[in-house]
Amino acid sequence: MSRKYRVGILGATGTVGQRFVQLLENHPQFEITALAASDRSAGKPYAQACAWKLAGAMPAYVKEIIVEAIAPPLDCDLVFSSLPTGVARETEEAFARAGFPVISNSSAYRMDEDVPLLIPEINQEHLALIEIQQRRRGFGKGFIITNPNCAVVSFAPPLAALDRRFGVESVFVTTLQAISGAGYPGVSSFDITDNVLPYIAGEEPKVETEAQKILGRFTGEAIEKADFTVSAQCFRVDVLDGHTASVRVKLRKSSTLEDVFAAMETFPSLKLHSSPKSFIDVCDEPSRPQPRLDRDNGEGMTITVGRVFPDNIFDYRFVALSHNTVRGAAGAAILNAELLIDKGFFK
Ligand code: NAP
Repeated sequence: MSRKYRVGILGATGTVGQRFVQLLENHPQFEITALAASDRSAGKPYAQACAWKLAGAMPAYVKEIIVEAIAPPLDCDLVFSSLPTGVARETEEAFARAGFPVISNSSAYRMDEDVPLLIPEINQEHLALIEIQQRRRGFGKGFIITNPNCAVVSFAPPLAALDRRFGVESVFVTTLQAISGAGYPGVSSFDITDNVLPYIAGEEPKVETEAQKILGRFTGEAIEKADFTVSAQCFRVDVLDGHTASVRVKLRKSSTLEDVFAAMETFPSLKLHSSPKSFIDVCDEPSRPQPRLDRDNGEGMTITVGRVFPDNIFDYRFVALSHNTVRGAAGAAILNAELLIDKGFFK
């Protein structure tokens, strides 16, 4: 058994930070050696600084770790970042400059042209940007990679499956996003109970642009973005975890419903530790997917698709669901880090 990589978590006390702590307990390749958060938490044991909100007890192994400030260096080999975007921009660069690989959840660097925006099953060749980024930014051995917005990750995989087989021309998506997507304490219960909020600050531009980069082609020097348009409306709904996307898609080549099903169902998963057995599960029960019933599919790493039908205006429509703090955040970042190990980036 090779040694475990020592990881630090920036934003460790937050909604995504807690998910990192939960998912990294007993991980065969990583062990947590540093936890960092705001001045409010720094200097306190994690058990005191963090208001644990996940089901089950806080893992014992982190309780006594003293939370540090979010400044390099930390006692670790790489950092996972789940900082608010405003803080992330400066902090993630500082860590990369100090020689740390930064595996980020935040949107701060997602669309920078020399930063990979990864879904390992779809675009691992984008890792080639790391060398370009290090050269351009003078980062030495540090670098930044990112995972997508938690709503985008629900529909980018089925789109990738369709794009490879038929070409995607345009997409109309409505997202129904869970409360935990806003972090803790998030929206007030008074606002969200018995309600649907038709505005999530800053969300629609992300949902309209990230998939084109994820499905883009690495040309040797940059990502040539995929040539389709996305029109998005994003809603916050009274669901705790699990983002749903209602999608209509126009394709470049004609296809049968059976081909559309097959393209999604056969999209391969990987063999990394956190890879689900099935990357995209297509169900044909008419009332699925549902957040409460399907978000934990593949331990939160599978994308569940249903309601796949021909559409009267576009070519096809479907509903896609993913777990926003697992496949949409901490689980995605951990999978990215496992990919880096697999590709020899930490040798
Ligand atoms: P959160 O629950 O509000 O947690 C924020 C974390 O950042 C806490 O650990 C907090 O520390 C720390 N923090 C806040 N302000 C800070 C500052 N000025 N300096 C240092 N640390 C600071 O938020 P979250 O939902 O975990 O989201 C974290 C990031 O992940 C965001 O960029 C978000 O967009 C992204 N993301 C979230 C989700 C999701 O489903 N929630 C999904 C994908 C991506 P204290 O506890 O000490 O205040």
